[in-house]
Amino acid sequence: MAFTIRNLKIRDQILLVTLPPLFVLLCAVALFFYAYWSAINTERAALRSKESVVRGESFLRHATEASMSVRGYVFNRRQDSLTAYDKAVKEGEEELLALVQLDAADSGELQEVIRIRAEFDQLQSQWAVPTIDKTRSGVDFNKEAALSEGQTRMADIRSHVMKLRNEDEGQNVAEMLSAEKVIKRMLVVGVTLAAVLAGILIFLTSVVTRLIVAPVLQLIRASEQVGRGDFSPELPPVVDNEFGVLSRSFSQMTSALRREREEIASLNHFSEAVTQCTSEVEVYDLLLHSLRERFQPRQVIIFKLNATENYLEAASTLVPMPKEQSAWPVIEEPHNCKAVRTGRSFAVNDVQIEPLCPSNFLLPTEGSYYCGPLIAGGIIIGAVRMEAAGELWTPERQRLLESYLNGAASALSNIRLLDRMKQQANIDVLTGLYNRRFLEDYARKLFAIARRRAQPVGVIMLDLDHFKSFNDIYGHEIGDRVLRHFAKTVTNCMRETNLAARYGGEEFVVVLPDTGVQACMLVAERIRKAVMTMVVPSNTEKPLPQLTVSIGVVAFPEHGQTLEEIIQASDKALYDSKRGGRNRVTMAAVPDVAAG
Ligand code: GH3
Ligand code: MG
Ligand code: MG
Repeated sequence: MAFTIRNLKIRDQILLVTLPPLFVLLCAVALFFYAYWSAINTERAALRSKESVVRGESFLRHATEASMSVRGYVFNRRQDSLTAYDKAVKEGEEELLALVQLDAADSGELQEVIRIRAEFDQLQSQWAVPTIDKTRSGVDFNKEAALSEGQTRMADIRSHVMKLRNEDEGQNVAEMLSAEKVIKRMLVVGVTLAAVLAGILIFLTSVVTRLIVAPVLQLIRASEQVGRGDFSPELPPVVDNEFGVLSRSFSQMTSALRREREEIASLNHFSEAVTQCTSEVEVYDLLLHSLRERFQPRQVIIFKLNATENYLEAASTLVPMPKEQSAWPVIEEPHNCKAVRTGRSFAVNDVQIEPLCPSNFLLPTEGSYYCGPLIAGGIIIGAVRMEAAGELWTPERQRLLESYLNGAASALSNIRLLDRMKQQANIDVLTGLYNRRFLEDYARKLFAIARRRAQPVGVIMLDLDHFKSFNDIYGHEIGDRVLRHFAKTVTNCMRETNLAARYGGEEFVVVLPDTGVQACMLVAERIRKAVMTMVVPSNTEKPLPQLTVSIGVVAFPEHGQTLEEIIQASDKALYDSKRGGRNRVTMAAVPDVAAG
């Protein structure tokens, strides 16, 4: 990402705002200290110059007093003139000493003071002391010349002191002026710096505020959206600092939430849809479709454990199986399937490296696969294998897959349970044949189809002969046994596509789809004969007497258009058999349409 302020770390952005003003502030403080220091120095120098002037004047006064004392002594020779001279010299020297200290910092002025001191010394040694000595000894000397020399020497000293004074006063003024200048300059610099500082602060604060506030606002808005349950916001990682990191992790979080919600929604959708399925095939189709939508696998195979649990059958696949497998698509030993054996799912992430399932059924040669059991109510009812090109089976995906498989397994088990219950409701407990209610539903549907296809349906009605007295003699239990044997005999005499039902106590009906009345007669005759040879075990050594059956035969639509008409006609034909002497088959007469 390009280097811009926007991409700087937040700490650096804040430093960018604070450092330049801080620097400017430090400069300003340093400048003001400098100004303060130089003003104090200037003031001190000015004071020193002032004192120097005062001391110079005082020295000049003492030097003049000393020279005047010598002059006085020359004329009046009084001792107090000498005392005044000594005092003036002493005080003059003290002032000179003070001047040396005051002007020590300025070498030019110091030179001047040293020169004055030398001249003062010379005034004493070369003029005053000899003049005093000559006066005291009373020798004659040129007093006028001596006093004039003294004046000349004093004039020199004065001129040097005046020069020093002028220098000090000049310096004093210059220093005052320069101090003023510094102060004025500092004022200008101070105001300018303050203005620059304020400008920099305002500019940088607004820039950084914008840089910090904009992404924060964006994050707040996005979080509010997520809080309302809308997981669509994804923040573009436009900057390369902490906000960039935050945006990226926020986007990852929302997309994970979005994905999870989609997964939950489609799982809910699947769970709801699977409970609506009314057949196992429907469940298989829905499961295949849902797994394909959610996981995009290469292949899905749904295995079903058969009722006797002795093989696993590939009941449905996403991609059709090769011909050689589709004829007998089974794993003959269910325990070879690892998922069925362990009751747990497992994944092979690379089929070329990891050990595969020992079932060996159409295993993929590349990529990965997952196999999970179908468990309903703690019972394994099958397994599902999913194959993918790459490594697809993360723990999260496996968990999601298990939810799909659990939903499908419980739907399958419900359908099976319902089927069993339905079957039980349609089956006669004693004989295992269908009951009358089922027969009626079935026959009605069959007649409707047969009518559309213009096909005949044969109906055979059977009633055991003299069964009441058989019951009375041998007991109800033996009677029941006879009924069971009779049911088996009837079933053995008919085709698989035919349907036998117990219509009443010892009355039975056989329905023969796509069978005309003549063919029915043959079947009826076969049954009659079989009953005649039917052996029912007895409870005693004495065998049971042979039973016979009377039969009435009709056909749809020849003998009736509705179930009621057909049953009526077959009943009538049966009655005819009874009336005709029993143990016989009677075909119903074709109804007289004109008469009917
Ligand atoms: P017919 O030759 O005229 O048919 O004489 P029948 O004695 O067989 O007379 P019917 O068909 O009217 O008799 C029905 C008898 O079937 C009455 C009852 O004793 C017997 N029965 C009906 N249901 C059962 C059953 O579930 N078990 C046993 N053991 N007997 C039954
Ligand atoms: Mg009967
Ligand atoms: Mg009977």
